[in-house]
Amino acid sequence: MDILDQILATDQNYILVALVISFFMMEMFFNQKVRVGSKLNHFFQNILFQLIAIAMGSLLGLMIISTFNWMDTYQFGLFNRIKVPYWFHIIAGVLLLDLADYWMHRWDHKVPLFWRQHRVHHSDTSMDASTALRGFPTDIIYFTIGELVMAVIFGLDIMSLNLFLFLFLPVSFIHHANLNYPAWVDPVFGWFFVTPNYHKVHHEQDQFYTDSNYGTLFIIWDKLFGTFKTKPVAEINYGLKEFEGNRKQSFLYLIRSPFMNIKQVVDEE
Ligand SMILES: [Zn+2]
Ligand SMILES: [Zn+2]
Repeated sequence: MDILDQILATDQNYILVALVISFFMMEMFFNQKVRVGSKLNHFFQNILFQLIAIAMGSLLGLMIISTFNWMDTYQFGLFNRIKVPYWFHIIAGVLLLDLADYWMHRWDHKVPLFWRQHRVHHSDTSMDASTALRGFPTDIIYFTIGELVMAVIFGLDIMSLNLFLFLFLPVSFIHHANLNYPAWVDPVFGWFFVTPNYHKVHHEQDQFYTDSNYGTLFIIWDKLFGTFKTKPVAEINYGLKEFEGNRKQSFLYLIRSPFMNIKQVVDEE
């Protein structure tokens, strides 16, 4: 597992910069109708959220390290009681963390107080790779708490969480990117993994679709718990109606939005 350790030790900020630059260039190259100025502005507004996330990094790190130290001291959790091969422990851990995210995400949509923080991610009406970065700070803490509760219950190894968090950022860029992926992606990967098309359905304005495909890495939870839905990507209207317009797409509006009473706007057909 030494090589994996070394890969996971890569500075996340370097990976972030590489992802931002490469996805921006790919999206410009493949979507020539997009104007550079407005796209740069859109990226910039969303990157401001990521700067807050980076500033919160030490708080999140402290939450994670102190939880795992506490688990080590008390040998807490199922995997500390039963002996399983190390590789099984790690892979099962990644699956369980994804399961935790699934339920946290579902409650993020269903509990009105949580939706106030989570709708920031859903507000993006012109979705592209940078939407991956648009998340309200407490929403990030909220998901981390869910992952740590799961880690404590099962006595997960910190390697599972490191691996899960390492995969999260690139996968999130792939999911949100304004790129047309080949048609074979869904049949080949979609039986087990969340594909970009599945996550895009989650960003459809119509709440029937917004409340579906909650999975982060694996789509199996949606299939198991009855929240898996599909829709042709060409027919998707992104974002939330109540956030339409340039002013409501700005960082300053969005960062204040959880504290505002914003009425849901439903399309009448
Ligand atoms: Zn969501
Ligand atoms: Zn998303």
